[in-house]
Amino acid sequence: MIDLPKDFLERMKGELGADYEDFLSGYARPAEKGVRANTLKLSTEDFEKLAPVELDGKTVWEKNGFYAKGESLGKTVYHAAGLYYVQEPSAMCAVPELEIKAGERVLDLCAAPGGKSTQIAQYMQGEGVLVANEIDFKRYTVLKSNIERFGVKNAAVTCQSPENLAAFYKNYFDKILVDAPCSGEGMFKKEEAAVREWSLKAVQACAARQAKILESAHEMLSGGGRLVYSTCTFAPEEDELQIENFLSLHPEYKLLKMKKLLPHKMRGEGHFCAVLQKTAGERAEDFRLKTVKADRKEFDEFKNGVIFADFKNVVKVGDGVYSVIDNFPAEFKAGVKIGEVKNGRFEPAHALAMSLKPNEFHGLEVNAETAVKYLRGLTFDCNEENGWRVVTFNRYPLGWCKAVNGVAKNHLPKGLRI
Ligand code: SAM
Repeated sequence: MIDLPKDFLERMKGELGADYEDFLSGYARPAEKGVRANTLKLSTEDFEKLAPVELDGKTVWEKNGFYAKGESLGKTVYHAAGLYYVQEPSAMCAVPELEIKAGERVLDLCAAPGGKSTQIAQYMQGEGVLVANEIDFKRYTVLKSNIERFGVKNAAVTCQSPENLAAFYKNYFDKILVDAPCSGEGMFKKEEAAVREWSLKAVQACAARQAKILESAHEMLSGGGRLVYSTCTFAPEEDELQIENFLSLHPEYKLLKMKKLLPHKMRGEGHFCAVLQKTAGERAEDFRLKTVKADRKEFDEFKNGVIFADFKNVVKVGDGVYSVIDNFPAEFKAGVKIGEVKNGRFEPAHALAMSLKPNEFHGLEVNAETAVKYLRGLTFDCNEENGWRVVTFNRYPLGWCKAVNGVAKNHLPKGLRI
């Protein structure tokens, strides 16, 4: 069993009383694992039929969530195709509490690596705007790649501090998720570092940081908007007391719900979640900034030759070509990067391939063996005319290749190769 911090155990004993032994014995069991079907690409029923990992029942709080068994849940071709996300089961409980409706403006403020942002995107089904923000650049790149893998078409992925973001998006969002950086007591089984870095002082530091993040979230939430605050820790200072403190500073908020999923009471590693509503304040207008229409020549040439998908707001930002969503300034790149113009030629982006539906492109269907070869970054023989093709496995896009004289040249981004 893991060697848990003494101060942590003492606090849990005080909090749980008679339940403590039960809680403690949970550490002898392996951590629960889960996957979430990507309903932007297939139905949950279809996922159940083709799931490449062993499923072990559904989660109660997320209709597309499953318990799963196995060591390498994320190392399959269907994972690379974005058909599912590997996520700790109890972490799936927060997003449904946002009660997302079509067309809303949603912010995920602490978003990397993207478990909850991709979940939010599923609830949005391409309607409205999702801003997925992560402060840490390295983690932001992982977030971006997961949003792309999932084929999300209505997101802007940003790398900002909450304060910077708040200066721009005053009273803008209908829904905000703050999945706060925390002391990670619910991660003790999964991450040795969480145990190592835990201390009473660290809990206090996390609580102070969370309070600051919540202030920025408050500035960005519109009147009538809903704020969901979650952590994967059990420390009251970061959970119930954090919310109590926020409510005392902001009496215009109503607490709608608070839930604490403890690992000895359900199947999962534990999560805290509070749902708040802002009862006063404005709702900012839609953006009215000018969108820059692209010089579409190169893109149209490419499109006529290779794909049939229609993109209505195609804009050029620098050398990048984007399909942006309505009411959002081009500079934010909210939408899908469809490619880049290099030396006067259009080169399609990975995000484009991942966001396409089966009838929207010329696919090059491969078998399982060639799919793995492709994901490794290798070229393979093909019987195709020269030109760009989307490599597919069971009709699900994996990325681009370029057929040149019977050889499919690999254009999967280097960072995604296995
Ligand atoms: N929501 C994510 C998911 O489901 O995949 C997990 C988010 S994780 C619990 C918290 C995130 O907050 C981390 O990615 C961390 O880098 C970020 N973070 C750290 N300090 C922050 C700060 N001061 N403001 C905003 N975010 C911060």
